[in-house]
Amino acid sequence: IKLIAPYDIKLDNVHFRYENGSREILKGINLDISSGDKLAILGRSGSGKSTLANLIRGDRVATEGAITINGIDVSKVGDQISNYIGVIHQTPYLFNTTILNNLRIGNEEATIEQVWQVLERVGLKDMVKALPQGLETMVDEAGMRFSGGERHRMALARILLKDAPIIILDEPTVGLDPLTEQEVISIFNRELKDKTLIWITHHLQGVEAMDQVIFIEDGTIEMQGSPDYL
Ligand code: ATP
Ligand code: MG
Repeated sequence: IKLIAPYDIKLDNVHFRYENGSREILKGINLDISSGDKLAILGRSGSGKSTLANLIRGDRVATEGAITINGIDVSKVGDQISNYIGVIHQTPYLFNTTILNNLRIGNEEATIEQVWQVLERVGLKDMVKALPQGLETMVDEAGMRFSGGERHRMALARILLKDAPIIILDEPTVGLDPLTEQEVISIFNRELKDKTLIWITHHLQGVEAMDQVIFIEDGTIEMQGSPDYL
């Protein structure tokens, strides 16, 4: 199924329970995220933030209620969903292949020129240029030759190449030192300003740049509003 703009996301009374779990994780979430909106999701560990993100991605299906993008149920979109929603996780995964291949995941057709362009946008161009083998440099298992901040910026570069209209950041800066974290957040904000952004985070830093903030607690939206309201 193809989705058509505007990519407005709507959650209508979403409930969720894992097959093997006795507890209902989400208990009736209602939420509207208009195309281009920036939403921050806050909440304690285990409150269901990542679960909610997985539901929006159609990786799991709501036990009750519906999640739609411009009226189409996300669970019906299939693998194509990755053309519309890009995700950056806590520990971005890099594959044991070249830098170039790592960046082209999701967009095999990206030209070398486009690859250098996104590397420049995320501030990695000079670093990659300085490597003797440049884009052909092998990335070892889990990308350990890169620092945490570099890995996060690689993940962002990959997502920018794919050019999906909706981006989910699931605590994308966990484990970074405060300075690097600030730097990565400001690159994210700058480079993703035309996208719909769903940003799951543990703390308030950076939240002021968002349009809407929600707190999830005990499976429901405990608080919702603009960041000035906090
Ligand atoms: P954190 O801030 O620590 O990332 P979170 O808000 O993202 O937490 P989730 O990962 O969504 O929380 O988990 C919500 C609840 O669902 C937790 O109690 C967790 O143990 C449970 N859970 C998560 N994944 C599964 C699974 N695959 N099967 C069963 N229960 C799960
Ligand atoms: Mg989580």
